[in-house]
Amino acid sequence: MPEFNPDHAMWAVRREFGEHGGVTPSISRSSTFTVMDPAIMPEIFDGLRGPDKGGCFLYSRHFNPTVDILARYLAAMEDTEAAVCTASGMAAIACALLQTCGSGDHIVASDTVYGGTHALLGELLPEMAITTTFVDITDMTAVKAAIRPESKVIYTETLGNPTLKVADLNALSRLANGHGLLLVVDNTFSPMMITPARHGAHVVIHSLTKFINGASDLIAGVICSDKEMANRFMDLHRGRVMLLGPTMDPRSAFDLIQRLPSLAMRMREHSRRAMAMAKRLEVMGVAVVYPGLSTHPQHRLLTGICNPGYGYGGILTIDCQTREKAEALMAFLQNREQFGFIAVSLGYFDTLMSCSGSSTSSEIPPEDQSRMGLSPGLVRISVGYTGDLSQRMLQLENAIKKIGLA
Ligand SMILES: *Cc1c(COP(=O)(O)O)cnc(C)c1O
Repeated sequence: MPEFNPDHAMWAVRREFGEHGGVTPSISRSSTFTVMDPAIMPEIFDGLRGPDKGGCFLYSRHFNPTVDILARYLAAMEDTEAAVCTASGMAAIACALLQTCGSGDHIVASDTVYGGTHALLGELLPEMAITTTFVDITDMTAVKAAIRPESKVIYTETLGNPTLKVADLNALSRLANGHGLLLVVDNTFSPMMITPARHGAHVVIHSLTKFINGASDLIAGVICSDKEMANRFMDLHRGRVMLLGPTMDPRSAFDLIQRLPSLAMRMREHSRRAMAMAKRLEVMGVAVVYPGLSTHPQHRLLTGICNPGYGYGGILTIDCQTREKAEALMAFLQNREQFGFIAVSLGYFDTLMSCSGSSTSSEIPPEDQSRMGLSPGLVRISVGYTGDLSQRMLQLENAIKKIGLA
């Protein structure tokens, strides 16, 4: 497969200038748009006359010019035909699944997914008679065995949250295609690094709240897909984004557009620092998990699907065995060493640390947590890029020694 560089693809998109020739796009905050010729209003409603077909924008829950610019950049980055921006990552996931599955349908999902996604699949969707079988997504026999006649979707994260299991996207897409299923992939942990559509994913989702925005100051999401599906999301009669209404605000879209130019550099730096820390921790004998380490069970698989130059991502985990030790480590790192912050979320410029089992994965029942390899003492670290790296390494070493993890 020819090499793909998402950063290059993104900047090959036609640049949009602001009003008066501004180098940044303008923010179109209008909720509604003037139709100059009333005779074409019905055609606009029938979807026959978009702004690209001599018509105009209609209403900002449907399409908005600023949100559209962001969608074009993100579609280019993910190498999909189209993208639909949403108000949150969860809105993107919920709308994608509700658009592709209906009452009586079934989903085969990775057991290692974001807590909110796990609750959506395991608790909310069953109320609408959409059921899910959770499987170890790295076990292709188990994935295949879980497929039923009523299955519609295989759902996974590229790098599972928080165990950092890597999904074999090529194998999953072969299986999906062989059974007429859609492969839906949440790529939140690995923008730029992995382009799931290049490995057969039909729908690619991001929480833009994380690395893509990078400043932890807004909530947003996106669904990248082919044009046909993007139009279905916005259909006036049945479109899940159009009718359930979680569309993106143009002000958020503008902020996100302004952060895209630094995304490639940021991802490289998150990866470089996480790799340096993971290597040091491994040498110290700490129970560290990082997909860039050759000891990670899917290291070779990941190397085979990564776009070159972006490293192995900004997330690593340390297993402290018990929640008490995990909390002691995080407290020391935050309050004594000023290494980072105890906070959920990830992809921020500063380092963020959380004990997954009792926070972002707490929706997952304890039995399931242990089955998916989530220890109660697991600390997830989203490695930031502020401060001097060698100083950061010393801070981390001090804390590890203080807590007695090595
Ligand atoms: C945060 C996150 C989500 C949810 O995104 P929001 O923007 O918070 O709604 C979904 N998937 C993953 C992997 C996440 O980390």
